[in-house]
Amino acid sequence: MDIKFNQTYEIEIIDMGHSGEGIGKIDGFTIFVEETVIGDKVKIEVITLKKNYGIGKVVEYLEYSPFRVNPQCTIFNQCGGCQIQNISYKKQLEIKKKIVSDNLRRIGGLHEVQIHDVIGMDSPERYRNKAQFPLTDKNGQIEIGFYRKKSHDIIQCDTCMIQHEINDKIIKEIKHIIKKFKLSIYNEKTGKGLLRHIVTRIGVNSKEFMLILVVNGTHLPNKDEMIENINKKLPEITTLVQNINTKKSNVILGDKNITLHGKGYIIDSIADVRFQISPLSFYQVNPVQMEQLYNKALEYAQLSGNETVFDLYCGIGTISLFLAKKAEKVIGVETVQQAVEDAQRNAEINHIENTEFHVGKAEEVVPELYKKGYKADVVVVDPPRKGCDEKLLTTMTEMQPERIVYVSCNPSTLARDLKYLEANGYMTKEVQPVDMFPYTVHVETVVLMSRVKK
Ligand code: SAH
Repeated sequence: MDIKFNQTYEIEIIDMGHSGEGIGKIDGFTIFVEETVIGDKVKIEVITLKKNYGIGKVVEYLEYSPFRVNPQCTIFNQCGGCQIQNISYKKQLEIKKKIVSDNLRRIGGLHEVQIHDVIGMDSPERYRNKAQFPLTDKNGQIEIGFYRKKSHDIIQCDTCMIQHEINDKIIKEIKHIIKKFKLSIYNEKTGKGLLRHIVTRIGVNSKEFMLILVVNGTHLPNKDEMIENINKKLPEITTLVQNINTKKSNVILGDKNITLHGKGYIIDSIADVRFQISPLSFYQVNPVQMEQLYNKALEYAQLSGNETVFDLYCGIGTISLFLAKKAEKVIGVETVQQAVEDAQRNAEINHIENTEFHVGKAEEVVPELYKKGYKADVVVVDPPRKGCDEKLLTTMTEMQPERIVYVSCNPSTLARDLKYLEANGYMTKEVQPVDMFPYTVHVETVVLMSRVKK
């Protein structure tokens, strides 16, 4: 069929795309349609036409999908945070499994591999332990909330269903405090004004709460009185930090922190391991699912107590410390100096003595360690979205660990890297997706690969 620009067509939405948009076909040709979900039947107008795909706009909903549910949040359509809150949770998990499966087949060429059902949450609300709220001053009216989809406009939000309840109270009280102390709000365009963001971090298990005021400079007006007021109005806050960010950029946190009250960090525990978390440390945002994820990684590592394990991209050493009790030695590698310091301190506070942490890029540090004679029986990798550098994968295959446990937050780079490892002596044994981010399109996956014996 010759598909025409501006023409209308009736289609069924049969899949979901990376950003939560619906995907349908016109005679086999892919069309992305915003504001639709899998199972919808819609009349669309083709508003963009490219060689391999088109974009359609809904003209009329012919039949609503049976998987649709009413979104709980009133700003669901405007906020970019949760993309698939209007789909039943059960279906969300099926969609995520399919995203993993499609990537492993199409990019990884893994057609035979079995993928387990996604490990979901019993109650998938209020799961996040970290919130970052931008603010704006609309002619004297302070608004705190989230960015509108694909923009930097702020939508006022009094309550967010994926954040801890304490945030609702913090937003309310901080508005009063801003007014009371005439704290100016940062303006992105002019670079003027003080308060840029409100960031909260929560030790869900320890009940420790960190409030970070991201400020455009070191000065805070009536500082002592303001701290006292925050402590009085928000007694739950165990530590209050001023983060200094004077850069004209989208990065939320600056490099420097001043502790205004409390320890300057929070402690949280996962199973029986305790972690110290500083304002800038990476820490998984969903502690309930984090435990599920790390337990899977531990199970796949199949440790007997005699193994040397490499934990690459180790952050503050969360996985390393989880594995250390069952291994002979764990060697963590991480680029961020402060994270490595946290990892070392975390080993100390847990009285774990068989870990060693190195600062640097995994693709540079691991080849050096290998040259020095280090060898891993098991390698765990947990890279950021772009996946592993090929140089690292090459060294890994030369080092020939028995097992590789790959923890990934991006199924497409995971698939690419598994393909490389499959071609170089490893076989994918288990694929377990975990729902770390309910109501969003993101999915975390743990994979076990074993060395093929010749
Ligand atoms: N495993 C940890 C952290 C995973 S996030 C946890 O579960 O908490 C990925 C981490 O990789 C981040 O801490 C980031 O700083 C680090 N990182 C990014 N690129 C890296 C590289 N090339 N080599 C080593 N670490 C890197």
